[in-house]
Amino acid sequence: MGSHGNQKDHAAELSALASLKRIADATFNYEDARYVIFGVPFDYTSSYRRGSSKGPTEVRLAYDNLESFDLDYGVDFSELPICDIGDISVNEDAAETVDLVEEVIKIIRNDEKIPIMIGGEHSITGGSIRNFRESSMIIIDAHSDFRDSYMGNRNNHACVTHRSLEVLGEGRIFSFGTRSTSKEEFEDPDYGKVTFIRSEYVKNNGIEKSFSEIAPKLKESIYFSIDMDGIDPSQAPGVGTPEPYGLRDSDVRYLIRKLARKIKGFDILEFTPDFDNGNTAMLAAKLIQDFIGSRETKNYF
Ligand code: MN
Ligand code: MN
Repeated sequence: MGSHGNQKDHAAELSALASLKRIADATFNYEDARYVIFGVPFDYTSSYRRGSSKGPTEVRLAYDNLESFDLDYGVDFSELPICDIGDISVNEDAAETVDLVEEVIKIIRNDEKIPIMIGGEHSITGGSIRNFRESSMIIIDAHSDFRDSYMGNRNNHACVTHRSLEVLGEGRIFSFGTRSTSKEEFEDPDYGKVTFIRSEYVKNNGIEKSFSEIAPKLKESIYFSIDMDGIDPSQAPGVGTPEPYGLRDSDVRYLIRKLARKIKGFDILEFTPDFDNGNTAMLAAKLIQDFIGSRETKNYF
């Protein structure tokens, strides 16, 4: 920062610096990138602990502490075609934000690139999925998010699986880690149109078996959505609505590795830094590396 200008100049300089925070390994410009990262600092429908709007920045800060080189994947992330376009501007209107996310991802998809969206709360996936009508969807989540409407809002984050079902239809959505469903959701006649793989089931049967049972039902193209509360609170405490008895981080990594080359869109949401001890931020950053690494590696998992 220069030592000359006045405070007004510094304010402009600081705000430019803040908005310029990018994933450290995102060294490519948009035209040359294969992976396009962006943040959506939106958390206005969150019902319990707000603050996932701070998620994108904190994930990027945590990412600064990861090595660019990765032994498992045998790649140097700083050499891979990754671009980070920063955060998109959002207001408090959920429907408008969901529509905006749809538009942003439409542009990235039309340019034949892979979007990686950092939330923000889960509601925004409802806009994203409209660009993946031919795909299967894998969700990591403690909650079924199957309310038709919540607090008078159909774009509430508690409704995103229901919204996604309306786009994709029966038999296309597989949600891993479920352990919280209201009676209202459970009794919804459409509840059975989504495959909910309970956290308890994964614990008892292992992630390999749990995955192999649904693998034949998946389309060639997959959208992968991670609500961080799907992972156990001991490993991912920084979330808005924590639920005990969750998936292991390695369960999620297993699914990413198995599916990576089919995944055409990826998001990571509901990380809420105010309640974190640092581990959730690092895990979210690492999961982004896991996704790109397992797509780009020559190793077999
Ligand atoms: Mn969710
Ligand atoms: Mn959740």
